[in-house]
Amino acid sequence: MTYHFSGILNFEKQVIKRFLQSKKEKSRQDLIQDLSVYLNQARESLQKQHISHHQLSLKSQAAFITLQGIHDLYHDLYQSRTSRYVAIFRLVRQEVENFPKFSNYPLIIRISASSRLSHSIGIRAKMIRYQISLSSLVLPDEYFSVLTKILFCRLSKKPVQNSWKVKLTDYENRFNRLHEKSVPQKPVKLNSRGEHYQLLQIFNKLNNLYFQNTLEVPHIGWSRQNNKYRLGSFHANQQKMLISRILDHPDVPQFVVEGIVYHEMLHMIHPIQSHNGRRIIHSRNFKNDERKFIHHVKLERWLKEDYPVLIGNKPQRSKFKDLF
Ligand SMILES: [Zn+2]
Repeated sequence: MTYHFSGILNFEKQVIKRFLQSKKEKSRQDLIQDLSVYLNQARESLQKQHISHHQLSLKSQAAFITLQGIHDLYHDLYQSRTSRYVAIFRLVRQEVENFPKFSNYPLIIRISASSRLSHSIGIRAKMIRYQISLSSLVLPDEYFSVLTKILFCRLSKKPVQNSWKVKLTDYENRFNRLHEKSVPQKPVKLNSRGEHYQLLQIFNKLNNLYFQNTLEVPHIGWSRQNNKYRLGSFHANQQKMLISRILDHPDVPQFVVEGIVYHEMLHMIHPIQSHNGRRIIHSRNFKNDERKFIHHVKLERWLKEDYPVLIGNKPQRSKFKDLF
């Protein structure tokens, strides 16, 4: 059972907003005072309902850690009791010292609910907004110091050392491998038979034509909804391939359905890579393989010109660039 704690999400937004707007030390102190009161109320309310921290939704957990972290920071920064948030904050602060342009800017770290490794950085109102994902908190200090170096080099347009890139990629790949294994295997029930096209038959045909029958048949099926902007997806951890039901339509030519399935099959042999902190989903090799599909050019043209008409939109909108 997962509990959403919407109050805490709203409060987190408020805190970050007030933090970004507050220029004086006094108003920041007031903010921390309010935060203290709110956190106590929130904890009491959870206790009353016998809900532990771990039963909260990822979003609520992330918000909780962010608020708790900001609070701890201003109460205990130089004391021995430290949360992971405070430890990471110190580390980032230390790294920022090496970038004089930003070293005097106040810093706020926000934990996002993502279960992937994700991060972003932004400067707003002469404040550094640094966002990292909940799942990254398990990584060692070195990860955060390397990440911070790279992000601030990029911000200040300085060259990024190769050794940092290598380290970061190494952490990310290790994390992704571990993470993929830890996802619980849910039983997947999918229907590959449509009214017009049979996905399993198409998969087998393509497997024979392009992959020498080396691909193991995944769970493959039509999506429940007519998804317009996501025509196909492949989920490696569940070995699940979904094709949007919108393509099971008499006006959609067979080569289109085949082309989308072929694209998703390529995801089976080109796993997602990490490079300098960016996820590469469609690598250069992936795109080279994509062009081996016999109707590649025709497919591209159909997606650009005919597909928008099918779903009642004007052709050539930028939305149609990235459909699968
Ligand atoms: Zn793709």
